[in-house]
Amino acid sequence: MTAQIINGKEIAQAVRQEIREEVEQLKQKGLVPGLAVILVGDNQASQTYVRNKEKACADLGMHSVLIKKPATLSQEELIENINELNQDDSIHGILVQLPLPSHINEEAIIEAISPEKDVDGFHPINIGRMMTGQRAFLPCTPYGVMVMLKHINYDLEGKHVVVVGRSNIVGKPMGQLLLNANATVTYCHSKTKDLTYFTKQADVIVAAVGRRNTITSEHIKEGAVVIDVGINRNEEGKLCGDVDYEDVLSKASYVTPVPGGVGPMTITMLMQNTIESAQRAYNVRQSA
Ligand code: NDP
Repeated sequence: MTAQIINGKEIAQAVRQEIREEVEQLKQKGLVPGLAVILVGDNQASQTYVRNKEKACADLGMHSVLIKKPATLSQEELIENINELNQDDSIHGILVQLPLPSHINEEAIIEAISPEKDVDGFHPINIGRMMTGQRAFLPCTPYGVMVMLKHINYDLEGKHVVVVGRSNIVGKPMGQLLLNANATVTYCHSKTKDLTYFTKQADVIVAAVGRRNTITSEHIKEGAVVIDVGINRNEEGKLCGDVDYEDVLSKASYVTPVPGGVGPMTITMLMQNTIESAQRAYNVRQSA
């Protein structure tokens, strides 16, 4: 078997085209969707992510505001900035780029963002809504994975999915979305005794660990779908995922590459959440 490649770039483009059309429709009705990004400090990776988010907004015709603050910003000042954005009708999504300097409590910052503008889907209210199957902003990376699986018409019902990784932003919500889609979900993590024992049983594996070659052909059963969320660098400094891509190709049915797999979906789903928020704001305005 040679695995089919799930092309995240192409799927992201298709989703972006739909968003672009929705942005246009909302603009014609007098509402310009807006995203505000707050960047505290000068973390290099964060600067790149933020730039990419601005580019995505420009590409889709959305309004974007970048608020850059020095690493010395106090937690109170940051909360004040967030409160202003919570009140600002031109802003439908607020994102505070993580990680934050260590003197700022990330949980307090996430909770300061209005759940109605929490387009990262990290606010406990949105997490709770997601868990109880209510309408919520979904965390962008797991949301992107669900869209990828939908794109290949993969029916999750009754399938066994093993999620490797249990972070609050990827692993945990990933498992919950899969459960909501009627999959049987197993979580593995650094304390899991025998990773291969679990992954060998999986119809679908989602690797979100941050360590290359965590998943090789030895870990998977014939025909498994392998989704690679990881972003790592190999010895030559090239981007790679958590999965030994070349190795699993001959055994998996589908596999996502790195780069060009889950990565492009993440920013796209941020844009999707922002347009959904803008649409809700428009509906509220109409019914007022
Ligand atoms: P975290 O470091 O927060 O979580 C990593 C998880 O992997 C933890 O739950 C940890 O277990 C688990 N883990 C570590 N070592 C092992 C092991 N040997 N076997 C099994 N599980 C293990 O990372 P994130 O969830 O934030 O990110 C994961 C990866 O995904 C990273 O490479 C990150 O860069 C990438 N990423 C990619 C995105 C994209 O858009 N493509 C977006 C976000 C992240 P424990 O809980 O026990 O410590």
